[in-house]
Formats: sequence, C-alpha cells, structure tokens
Amino acid sequence: MSTRELTCVVCPGGCTIVVDVDDDETPVVTRIQGNTCPRGEAWARQEVENPMRTIASSVPVRGGDFPLVSVRTLRPIPLTKIREVMEEIRILSLEAPVEIGSVLLSSPAGCDTEVVATRRVKAAAPCAEA
Ligand code: SF4
Repeated sequence: MSTRELTCVVCPGGCTIVVDVDDDETPVVTRIQGNTCPRGEAWARQEVENPMRTIASSVPVRGGDFPLVSVRTLRPIPLTKIREVMEEIRILSLEAPVEIGSVLLSSPAGCDTEVVATRRVKAAAPCAEA
C-alpha cells in the first residue's frame, strides 16, 4: 500500500488529490481524497490505474514547402503504448501535399486513436528555368 499526491489537470483549479494505492500487482486505487468534483476522482483513478497521454511528434515530407509535418494522436493512448506508437510514427515518410487533419495512422499499436497531421504542407513550387 502506498499514498500518492497528484495535482489534478482536468481544470485550472489544480486540486491536490491524495490517493491510496494497493500496489500488490497492478495498481488499484483504494481511497481518493482532496478532489472537489467527480471529474477529479475519475481522473485520479485513471492516472494511477491506467495513465493515458496524447503524444505529438513530426514526420518528414518530401517535395513540400516545409520538410516536416507536425502530428499528434487524436485521443490519448495508454502510457505503456507510447514507445510502440512512436516507433510507428518514426518510420512514416510522406509526400507533399499534406492537409491538416489527414489521418496518417489508424489504430497505431492497436490503440483506439488515429495519428493526424496538425499542419498543412503544400507541394513545393517548381524551380524556374534558367
Ligand atoms: S478535482 Fe475537479 S475542481 Fe479540482 S482541479 Fe480536478 S476537475 Fe477541477
């Protein structure tokens, strides 16, 4: 059994939430104190038992007006899957143009999310003849 102190990130209130955790095998929350609303309780339980994160990265683009496009997961993924998802992003290589919101990966590492482009990369203008 252990006690963890968390700062809730669900709203700007930033309540300090104290969680008692049974750490025998997988962490199980046994008591939550300090939250001032149910959303904080749900967040603290998930943060301890199955933490989730949204991840952002960038992917190279060939033939574009910018050499990289920023990408992110549409929905949070389990912390334990970040390495696998980052590996799938790392091997991506795109051809311009790329539109904002383009789905680049569906269900990466089996997660319930998509990896999408978060900026536009236009095709580079052709070079003028000399
Ligand atoms: S516990 Fe509720 S009020 Fe407090 S920071 Fe979290 S969401 Fe906001």
